[in-house]
Amino acid sequence: MKPFTVRLDLHGDLDFFVQSGARGQSIERSLGEKTSVKDVIEACGVPHPEVDLILVDGQPVDFDYAIAIDAKIELYPVTTSSPDFKDKRLQLTNTGRFVADGHLGKLARDLRLLGFDVAYDPHVEDRQLLVVMERQNRALLTRDRHLLMHRVVRTGYFPRSQNADEQTVEVIRRFDLFSSIAPFTRCLRCNARLREVSKAEVVERLEPLTKLYYKQFRRCSGCSQIYWPGSHFSKLQNRLERICANFAG
Ligand SMILES: [Zn+2]
Repeated sequence: MKPFTVRLDLHGDLDFFVQSGARGQSIERSLGEKTSVKDVIEACGVPHPEVDLILVDGQPVDFDYAIAIDAKIELYPVTTSSPDFKDKRLQLTNTGRFVADGHLGKLARDLRLLGFDVAYDPHVEDRQLLVVMERQNRALLTRDRHLLMHRVVRTGYFPRSQNADEQTVEVIRRFDLFSSIAPFTRCLRCNARLREVSKAEVVERLEPLTKLYYKQFRRCSGCSQIYWPGSHFSKLQNRLERICANFAG
């Protein structure tokens, strides 16, 4: 087969995934055999769940599209809106169910604080993460780019920042979740839902001062942890306000 050349243009923040020296420029690759566009993209370092629209010579294609001749490939991330090809977008938005890899404990906790359903186990192996993702239909959150490139991953995100608050803001943007935020409805320890309970139901488990000062309580339907405004909630309120401030205006 005659060798051919592909030229890739990365839009939005997708050049985050290429070496800093190569940012802002087209990437050229010479190929000797028919190759799927997914493999071409990932050979440049960009995980496929980050790519929401692929144009080959101006026409939208999906990840299986095979390239066998010279081509110009344009890649768009989810967060770059484009009026064209709305029905050719490749990624899901607006999912509030996640599985986070073992290094993203703070992000998992922040998202639970906002009410989102996040499976998280600090000791889980990669293979198991993918099983949970597939069986429970969750989006994968990981900073392991090779894991995100795995062919079974349909929906996922690589947090750009290493700071948990910033990562949380990124995830809310990427999955368009701002209007779905429901603070203090989910257990930070085990991810189960919290239920309102009367003071009488939990009074035996409260410290004397808590018993005296607080009236409203919630109990986790999974691990039975009790939450009340003076404990976890007030400390977390500041954190919540910091995160939400990014979406003001
Ligand atoms: Zn719990």
